Amino acid sequence: MIKELHNKLISGEITSTQLVEQYFAVISQKNKDINAYLTLTKELALEQAKKVDEKISRGEEIGILEGIPGAIKDNICIENVRTTAGSKILDNYVAPYDATVIKKLKEAGAIILGKTNLDEFAMGSSTENSAYGATKNPHDLERVSGGSSGGSAVAVASDMAVWSLGSDTGGSIRQPASFCGIVGLKPTYGRVSRYGLIAMASSLDQIGPMAKSVEDVAIILSIISEKDKLDATSTPSVNKRYEDYLTGEVKGLKIGIVKEYLAGLNEDVKKIINGVIEKYKKLGAQIVEIELPNAKYALPTYYIIQPCETSSNLARFDGIKYGMRADDKKNSDYNPDGLPKNLLENYLDTRAYELGAEVKRRIMLGTYALSAGYYDAYYLRAQKVRTLIKQDFQKAFEKVDLILTPTTPSTAFKLGEKNQDPLQMYLEDIFTITANIAGVPAISVPGGEIKINGKNLPIGFQLLGKWFDEETLLNTVHAFEVN
Ligand code: GLN
Repeated sequence: MIKELHNKLISGEITSTQLVEQYFAVISQKNKDINAYLTLTKELALEQAKKVDEKISRGEEIGILEGIPGAIKDNICIENVRTTAGSKILDNYVAPYDATVIKKLKEAGAIILGKTNLDEFAMGSSTENSAYGATKNPHDLERVSGGSSGGSAVAVASDMAVWSLGSDTGGSIRQPASFCGIVGLKPTYGRVSRYGLIAMASSLDQIGPMAKSVEDVAIILSIISEKDKLDATSTPSVNKRYEDYLTGEVKGLKIGIVKEYLAGLNEDVKKIINGVIEKYKKLGAQIVEIELPNAKYALPTYYIIQPCETSSNLARFDGIKYGMRADDKKNSDYNPDGLPKNLLENYLDTRAYELGAEVKRRIMLGTYALSAGYYDAYYLRAQKVRTLIKQDFQKAFEKVDLILTPTTPSTAFKLGEKNQDPLQMYLEDIFTITANIAGVPAISVPGGEIKINGKNLPIGFQLLGKWFDEETLLNTVHAFEVN
C-alpha cells in the first residue's frame, strides 16, 4: 500500500494534503465509536503534508514514506504533543522532545495523524485498562481490539492510518495485530531505539511497526532501525532496506513447530495453524518438530520480571516530576479527605488516585518481588529461568531457521469478558512473551478468519526468527501473504 501511494504521489494523481484530509475524514466518521485515537495532530500533519507537496511540485525526489500518514502509540514522545501513555497521571503531559523513532520518521517525511489509545502504561491485552476508555474491534464492536497497542492496530485496520507504531513488551504489537487482521512486528531487542518510549519493562520493551502488509512493515522498519547513542541497548546499524529482501522464496527453509503448543489449542485455531503449515510445505519449506522445554515457565517468568522493572520505572510518576499531582485539583472530587496536607500525602494521593488498578497491581507485585529477602527467590530466579529460555531458542535455532506458533489462543474476546480476572488476561500472552524474554524478533500475520455468531473474526499466526535476522522473518511471512 505504501509503494502504491508513493507512486500516486509522484505521478500527481493525489497530493499528500488530499491524502491527509481523506484520512481525517475517515477518523472523524469512525473514531467516536471505536476510540482508536486519543489525540489528533492535524495541524502538524497538514504542515508536514504541505512541505511534501511543495517538494513534489518543485520536481524533487521524495522518499518512500514521505507524505504518507500514520499513527503513533501514545507512549512514544512527540515534541509539543500531549503524551498520556493511557494514564490519568500523564493527562496534561506534553512531551518536550521527539523519541528517536519520531525523529527518524520526521526526517523521512512521514506524516503523523495522531496518538493512539493503549492500556495504561502498556499493561494489558485488551486496551480496556486505558484511562480513556477501551478501543473497540472494528470487526465486531462488542469485542476488544487487543492490547496494549489496540489503538495502533485499529487505526490501521479501520483505514484511519496507513501504518502505525506500537510497542511490544510481551505481545502488545502482535496480539492486537492478530485480533484486528493486520501485520505487526516486534523487532529483535536492540534493533530499534527505545529513547522516548515511556519505559514499562526496559529489558523487554521494543517499538515496532504495524500495517496491512509485510512490505509496509519492512519499509517502516528500515526507516526506524538505527544505532542510537541515546539508547545504550540499541545495536549497531546495519543500514538494511528490509523491503529488498522480500523475494517470496522459502524453498529449503526450515520452520520449527512446538508440539506442546499445538496440543492444547482450540479446534478453530488449530485448523488455521495446520493450514499455515500446509501452505509452507507447498511452498517448499521443511517443517521440523522442535522442543522449547522451558517455554512453559515463560508466563510466570515474565510476570516477575515485568512487574519488577515496571515498579522501578514508574517510580518517577510521583506528581512532582511529571504530570498530574493530587494538590493541583481545585475540587478534589476523588479524595474524601480533601487535598493532601504535606509532601508525603501528595505523593501517596497522586499515585493512589491517578494510577489505575492494573498498574498498581504490577507495582505492588514488583516491589514485593524486589524487596530484601525476596529478591533471590523471585527476581534472581526469574532471571535464571530467562537464561534457560534463551538457551532453548539457541538450541532450536541450530536446527531450524524460524519457529511457527499461534499468536493468540483465540480470536478477539468480548469487552468485559476478562478484565475482572487478571490471570485470564495474562494467559492471553502465552505464545507472545517468549520472544520478549529471549529478545528474538517475532511477527504476527493474518492467518485466516473464524466465524463466531455470524461475524468473521480475523486471527493471526506468529513466526519467530533468529536474533537480528528480520530479513528472513519478513521474507517468510511475505511468501505466505503473496502466495
Ligand atoms: N499483556 C502484557 C502485559 O500486560 C504485554 C503488554 C505489552 O506487551 N506491552 O504486560
